[in-house]
Amino acid sequence: MMTAQHCREMDAQDPLRGLRDLFVLPDGLIYLDGNSLGVLPKATAGRVARAITEEWGQGLIRSWNNAGWFDLPMRLGDKVAALVGSRRGDLVVTDGTSINLYKLLSAALRIAQQHAPSRRVVVSERSNFPTDLYIAQSLCQERGYRLLLVEDAQIEPALTEDVAVMMLTHVNYRTGFMHDMQAVTAAAHRRNILALWDLAHSAGAVPVDLQADDADFAVGCGYKYLNGGPGAPAFAWVHPRHADRFEQPLAGWWGHAAPFEFTPDYRPAPGIARYLCGTQPILSMVALECGLDTVLAAQPLGGMAGLRRKSLALTDLFIQLVEERCTGHGLALLTPRAHERRGSQVCLTREQGAYAIVQALIARGVIGDYRAPLPAVPASQRADPAPGGILRFGFTPLYTGFEDVWTAVAHLQQVLAQREWERSEFNQRHAVT
Ligand SMILES: *Cc1c(COP(=O)(O)O)cnc(C)c1O
Repeated sequence: MMTAQHCREMDAQDPLRGLRDLFVLPDGLIYLDGNSLGVLPKATAGRVARAITEEWGQGLIRSWNNAGWFDLPMRLGDKVAALVGSRRGDLVVTDGTSINLYKLLSAALRIAQQHAPSRRVVVSERSNFPTDLYIAQSLCQERGYRLLLVEDAQIEPALTEDVAVMMLTHVNYRTGFMHDMQAVTAAAHRRNILALWDLAHSAGAVPVDLQADDADFAVGCGYKYLNGGPGAPAFAWVHPRHADRFEQPLAGWWGHAAPFEFTPDYRPAPGIARYLCGTQPILSMVALECGLDTVLAAQPLGGMAGLRRKSLALTDLFIQLVEERCTGHGLALLTPRAHERRGSQVCLTREQGAYAIVQALIARGVIGDYRAPLPAVPASQRADPAPGGILRFGFTPLYTGFEDVWTAVAHLQQVLAQREWERSEFNQRHAVT
């Protein structure tokens, strides 16, 4: 049996333990939701204040050059590139994930249209994050494509010769399942299908090697494991073999080859810079840089491989403790046990009461979140793996400790043993983030 003392020893031996000091961690709170909104880095408030009072307040318009504002999308792009296996200069930080997805999927469809006009299908998963599916639906409708949604991990049989683009999220937000990016991309390429990956739950959480895995397009989110703050800018990556081939549909002046010539005609910038649209949210960019720097601070301590090792140790510990201490309460594990298929979160499911259990944990200062079950699938298809609601716990190795995991499970055990989740105040539904 695992003990609290053993968890404290794991913290004492953790080479990444010091990184926790880079963050503002509210007293008495165990935060297991960094997969939804990363924790505030200590450096951010001062850095943003300086951008406001000095760069904006004193520098004014000069700061576009003097404070490097204009370069932020590419400069931050290089920092993200180091985390996801992109070359420098191939990745840009800009806009939001949904918007970048629109730009990239649109470019992918144009490439497909040129090379294989008879292919009229975009494939994704039914359990993909809704915004990805909505963006794809809207683009498919506009361009005359069909969006085919398959059940989890049933991708390969759907990769037929009708398919133009495969659009997947690398780590599933609902289950924590992680695709084998290299194998699935290779399967798509064997059938001449372009592979677009959403790295929202991957960037800063698990090692990703876009270039080595030969992906075609990728987007990702700045406010989850990259700790960029609410609504932080996202990123877009296009494999260099495609980067110069097409204009993206939101052709704005920041993506122009020479924006300050103010010419009436659009001429796209070379490479990934053409995926910029208009003026960027500089204050948010500055905040995101502080978040990126917290992840890059792990570089001398083993980088993404070191973070991954700790992430797996944390999720292994959580699974072990739940199984040792919370059996007999109807919880089932939704996240794969196999390390190579697991992201940096653990999801449990329970036929009833999942929402209230999460609320009861939050009242105790253990913050995870709840996700509703998917609507039942048609009988002809595989049974839904999540019949009940989902209790979702994200583990961010930068600031989550092993003793935190112990304490979180101790609270979960008490909530279950005392049937706290049956109390009416935890069953009042309100807006869930
Ligand atoms: C969080 C998340 C998003 C967020 O999109 P926004 O445009 O930032 O709201 C998109 N896709 C996936 C898979 C996500 O997990």
